[in-house]
Amino acid sequence: MRTAYQYKLRPNSDQIATIELWLELLRRQYNYRLGERFSWWSENLCPVNACPLVMPIPPLRDNPDYYSQKRDLVNTKDKFSEYKLIHSQVLQDCIKRVKLAFDRWFKADKNGQKLGKPRFKGIGRYRSFTYPQIKLDCIEENQINLPKIGKVKLIQHRPIPEGLTIKTVTISRKADGYYVTLSLEDKSVPALTTIVEPTLENTLGIDMGLKEFLVTSEGESVPIPQYYRSSQKRLKTLQKRLSRKKKGSKRWLKVVKAVAKQHKKVADKRKDFHFKTADELLSKAEVIAHENLNIKGLAKTRLSKSINDAGWGQFLSILTVKAENTGQKTIAVNPKNTSQDCSNCGKKVDKELSQRTHSCPHCGIAIDRDLNAAINIKNRAVGHSVLKARGSRRNTGAANREAHTIAPA
Ligand SMILES: [Zn+2]
Repeated sequence: MRTAYQYKLRPNSDQIATIELWLELLRRQYNYRLGERFSWWSENLCPVNACPLVMPIPPLRDNPDYYSQKRDLVNTKDKFSEYKLIHSQVLQDCIKRVKLAFDRWFKADKNGQKLGKPRFKGIGRYRSFTYPQIKLDCIEENQINLPKIGKVKLIQHRPIPEGLTIKTVTISRKADGYYVTLSLEDKSVPALTTIVEPTLENTLGIDMGLKEFLVTSEGESVPIPQYYRSSQKRLKTLQKRLSRKKKGSKRWLKVVKAVAKQHKKVADKRKDFHFKTADELLSKAEVIAHENLNIKGLAKTRLSKSINDAGWGQFLSILTVKAENTGQKTIAVNPKNTSQDCSNCGKKVDKELSQRTHSCPHCGIAIDRDLNAAINIKNRAVGHSVLKARGSRRNTGAANREAHTIAPA
């Protein structure tokens, strides 16, 4: 089992200077290695139908890859001695990040999603570095012993559970200070392999929407927390204040920092809300069914203005990871027509987005629109077709079953 704990750091001014120096050097290294890979591409790519007949052939170079770039770090350290200050494994991890960014550009991950072309990082945009290995006893009495940085104070707001070993350590800069993220592994707990089969009894369908955060197939609803609106207001005031300042001035910088802090505050609150909601849902049912959301597609529609859109993806990944850890399950179902189909008789009832009740002319049922969708989602996960159950041959609720897996953040 793999999990992550994050603590706030209280580095002294020398340590902050070291961390900032490392981040800047790593940023340059990252950009250089990215440039190395890009230039190989531009030199060696030529459309077949556009290859000039006479062409100077540049000396062939090997395609820079993870290993060659890692070997080349010796030369970097030779030319720029300041790189010797950085812990060697941290520096190697920077090369690994280049590799990952490049790989994700060409190859899709297990969810079939590709990332865009890697980008060079501007000043201040390289925000974290990782020790891929660390001594087991690096944490003692509210201090973490980081190689080449020294003992840094940390606020251990919760202890690391017994039996967990620290695998990697990541130091990151955020709007309100520095944080350490420990990736922990527990070998004594084997990954749960019990497979829960969704049934009508143990499954809960959820429909996520703009009016309510979600509505369950039992008719319960979780409202959108109020703080979203108040913190949005505060953000707006800050943005207004920012627009009145001269860009680059001291006062401008002060407001920029306040904006970043406010964003972090909202994000922290949202995450907390997501964790609590996920806990509550998982205490109610063994299997949670939700729509297979195309977040990227949603972002292009008018729904993107919604203050929720950023939240759904995070909520679903938290829910999925939590479910896996406790041997429960989440199922993503085909979202097509979940709000149009009748959950009682299966016939399609067209309705506008503004129509809040589902009233079926075929069977006479009249229920809340979101509840109707949640029940449809549940039925699809279970593979229970309304019509099949009623002895008809038409199968509208063919379940599109697919385990929803998002790697832990
Ligand atoms: Zn009906």
